[in-house]
Amino acid sequence: MKKLRILANDGLAPSAKEKLEKAGHIVYDRKIPQEELADFINENDIDVLVVRSATKVPASLLKKVEPLKMIVRAGVGLDNIDTAYAKEKGIRVENTPEASSRSVAELVMAHLLGGARFLHESNREMPLRGDTDFKDLKKQYSAGREVRGKTIGILGMGRIGREVAKLATGLGMKVKAYDPYVEEASYTLDFFDGQQAHFTVRTEPKEEVLREADFVTLHVPAQDKPVIGKKELEMMKEGAALINAARGGVVDEAELLKALDSGKLSFAALDVYESEPAPPIKLLMHPKVSLTPHIGASTLEAQERIGEEIVKKIHELAAQSG
Ligand code: NAD
Repeated sequence: MKKLRILANDGLAPSAKEKLEKAGHIVYDRKIPQEELADFINENDIDVLVVRSATKVPASLLKKVEPLKMIVRAGVGLDNIDTAYAKEKGIRVENTPEASSRSVAELVMAHLLGGARFLHESNREMPLRGDTDFKDLKKQYSAGREVRGKTIGILGMGRIGREVAKLATGLGMKVKAYDPYVEEASYTLDFFDGQQAHFTVRTEPKEEVLREADFVTLHVPAQDKPVIGKKELEMMKEGAALINAARGGVVDEAELLKALDSGKLSFAALDVYESEPAPPIKLLMHPKVSLTPHIGASTLEAQERIGEEIVKKIHELAAQSG
């Protein structure tokens, strides 16, 4: 088995690093700035580059790096890697699509439940006015909503969409889904006592889902144009909420701000942004937006699972490389 030289530029679970090093591979677990990446790869004979979404791997980088055999995207979206050019150069590109679905889905539900009870606003106001205006704040946030019996509209019924459907079903929500490439999606709820319950959701037209949903959540890949723009926001229910933990750009942020200001939407939750890593201040400061800095996949459990998958892929490459 060939010993490989690996650069994990956006971090790697310690257990994965340990396993790789035990197998004799050399692992650089550090952040090399984008502009120095090509030189580092060449100077250190790196065989495998492991990235999350932060490091960009465009053709201009791949043109400069000779020894690279494999790029592993620790996560799902491959939009930060020029996969077509990598293929042309004979560089294998892998990702770990399954490992983080549950983590993203749980963050979505955290935003959903938090938004329904104004936690995003309350957490901002309580430190400032909690000791002087307690009663006013209590009044302000007293019209929260339960989610049981409400409808969640899932746009994109792939791995994460189905995981969100499971959690929503567990909370007693109605599930509606739109996915132009999926006719029906099945999922299984596993309970603590070993019991299981199976569900199948038939997808519906986008308009239908937007019209009926109290909460709309997106789980689609990066797109050329927004899936939710002015027209779609208009279709949504008065007072509905929107959650985007998919990719920046799948929601038109300027139109979203207008829908929040007009009261059409009660709140929005964002984990991803059109202009990452510097979202516009108007969005960041908006009282009706619940915000996280692209942490959907970032749980200890997901990182462990991602690490395990990366180790497997690197061992395969090492075995094939002789
Ligand atoms: P997936 O490929 O399993 O599912 C995506 C689904 O979207 C597919 O079923 C596809 O048919 C559907 N789809 C494609 N275009 C569509 C459209 N225009 N409208 C409706 N549906 C459409 O992917 P996944 O693993 O479920 O990931 C979904 C998204 O979540 C990706 O964009 C991924 O990058 C993102 N993601 C975000 C985080 C985070 O940290 N926030 C972490 C992981 C993944």
